[in-house]
Amino acid sequence: MDYPKAEKRFAADAMLGRLARWLRVLGFDTVHIPDVDDHDLVALAEREGRILLTRDRHLVTYLRPRNSVLLTSSSPHEQLLEVAEACDIGMTKELFTRCMVCNTPLRQATEQEIATLVPDKARARKGPFLRCPGCGRIYWPGSHTRRMRRVLETLFSE
Ligand SMILES: [Zn+2]
Repeated sequence: MDYPKAEKRFAADAMLGRLARWLRVLGFDTVHIPDVDDHDLVALAEREGRILLTRDRHLVTYLRPRNSVLLTSSSPHEQLLEVAEACDIGMTKELFTRCMVCNTPLRQATEQEIATLVPDKARARKGPFLRCPGCGRIYWPGSHTRRMRRVLETLFSE
């Protein structure tokens, strides 16, 4: 792989939606278009300097993407470890910097957004409250993010 570690960007094939979400939680810019055609996906990866992630041997053999990882596992957790091993990435210091649904980098939510968009119970927490400028989702630390952090810490400690 010829990209610096921090700048590694990915294009996940249509079957790898859950893997894409995990990579985004770690902060990696990961494109995932559910109904994209194989040729278009390879072209996008080449154009944007992305490492193509796929389980489709045929795609790799016939379309020959410049940088790709052929995954073997059907489990998103195992796939994440396969990508980590192949691309020399791992646990990152800061999780949840990027929207796990649409891949847009998150920004601090404004006071007004917190007041209007965060449920009362969550608003009592310290935050940080983050807003996705792409799809409008609000993220805050809670049991869901704690659970995801634990999954990642366990995966990468093995
Ligand atoms: Zn979003």
